[in-house]
Amino acid sequence: MDGVAQGQNYIDGRWEDGDGPVLEVRDPATGEVAARVPDSTEQDVDRAVVAARHAWSTWRWVNPTRRADYLHDAAEALTATQDRVAASITREMGKPLAEAVGEVQKLAKTFHFYAEEATRITGATLANEEDGFTSLVEKEPIGVVAAITPWNYPVELIGWKLAAALAAGCTVVVKPSEYTPSAAIEVFRCLEAARLPAGVANLVTGGGATGRALVAHPAINKVAFTGSGATGEAIFRTVSGVKPLSMELGGNCPLIVTGHADLEQAVAGALRRSFRNAGQICIAINRAYVHADLYEEFVQRLAKAAAGLVVGDGLREDKVDVGPVTNTDILEKSERHVADARSKGARVLVGGGRSPDRPVGNFYQPTVLADCTQDMLVMHEETFGPVIGVSSYDDLDTTIELANSTPAGLAAYVYSDDLSEVFALSRRLDFGSVAVNNVDAGTINAPYGGRKGSGFGYEHGREGMEGYLQIKHVRLRHGS
Ligand code: NAD
Repeated sequence: MDGVAQGQNYIDGRWEDGDGPVLEVRDPATGEVAARVPDSTEQDVDRAVVAARHAWSTWRWVNPTRRADYLHDAAEALTATQDRVAASITREMGKPLAEAVGEVQKLAKTFHFYAEEATRITGATLANEEDGFTSLVEKEPIGVVAAITPWNYPVELIGWKLAAALAAGCTVVVKPSEYTPSAAIEVFRCLEAARLPAGVANLVTGGGATGRALVAHPAINKVAFTGSGATGEAIFRTVSGVKPLSMELGGNCPLIVTGHADLEQAVAGALRRSFRNAGQICIAINRAYVHADLYEEFVQRLAKAAAGLVVGDGLREDKVDVGPVTNTDILEKSERHVADARSKGARVLVGGGRSPDRPVGNFYQPTVLADCTQDMLVMHEETFGPVIGVSSYDDLDTTIELANSTPAGLAAYVYSDDLSEVFALSRRLDFGSVAVNNVDAGTINAPYGGRKGSGFGYEHGREGMEGYLQIKHVRLRHGS
């Protein structure tokens, strides 16, 4: 044996090997094998779904206060093991260790948040037209949830679904990304430590075929998916029967810096939201439209700041700002977008290719492209790498149209100190989230979701849990 960790599925409260082949996961900083996990088969998936269905018959009746206790305990277990969970994230997807620790801490907060929400599931009572009747509007859990997630936030994107669904009284089968299964396994160790009853949460690792088998399973009651638009469309075609879906799909997020913006803050915001997580964020700033009065100063300052970011191996080196990108698809897409912009006349102010001093691993330099036009790929297609395209504007109305012109509708960013501009922009930008004078579009107690090609359904907030509840109207004749 070579000492590489061999992960397992977690089904019905037990760790088990899969029926099928083994999947190798690679460290994006070194290219070496980081873990081996089951490439789960239809039979593995079926066992997990059957366990979840069986567990649902009791979990749905567990008092919400007790469900909350389990979620709080899972949060405590995450906090106690945060360094170990974080290392598993960095080893498989590359983000610097400190950022991975931050992700685990936010996941623990998510579990605490939904623990509290579990105790606040409310309905309504309505007077009827006739005396002697009352309508009760009650909320009940939907049933067994299939949760399918990508690799860029390997534990948070699982946790948003898992914690909200468990709080609502649903049971869950999670299929994490094939690039980051070990982080999911660590989360399930925490659920085990919290003594969550067998079958309430199950884990099957594997690739797209495993996800397809899960989505197609007739005993699933809801599919909660985060990932690319292409996979989202495939899920529409695969899902068996008629059932609710939530789709958190790709973004292509604009930043508008008006002539009344605080330039220093706008540059700091663009730097953070374009290069954090090596740009592999669905709400990353892909493209910026900057008023002509501030444009040249903005691009020069942003390029200088991007040049100062330290690119490196976030697991084995200190003070790294940008790790390797997780897979070669992202490397190649970043190269394609930069080459396309260059060929159409963009100025490459900094970066523009793989890190020359790092021949091993998926390292791409933070890249600022100036003088971009809307026909360049970087301005209308999600790059999902450390690249930003910037263009200058004179007319705000036309810029709002350009910002709204792509199929994506996830998040948009605005920097302006002019109140009427802020109102006009926040109302007219056709996106699920608009962040004004900041770039942290998500906060746990407010709903987060996309529109248009970025999908539908919400995570975070009370709305995140409502998606796992269904309404029942009880019309009561009591004669009073
Ligand atoms: P992906 O669509 O390739 O994979 C996502 C998950 O779907 C993986 O677990 C994968 O194994 C599974 N899968 C693949 N084919 C499947 C099928 N036919 N049926 C069922 N499951 C299948 O996405 P990715 O490359 O892992 O993630 C990157 C994408 O995710 C980007 O587009 C990004 O914008 C998006 N994303 C969106 C959000 C959001 O909140 N809207 C958040 C993070 C990432």
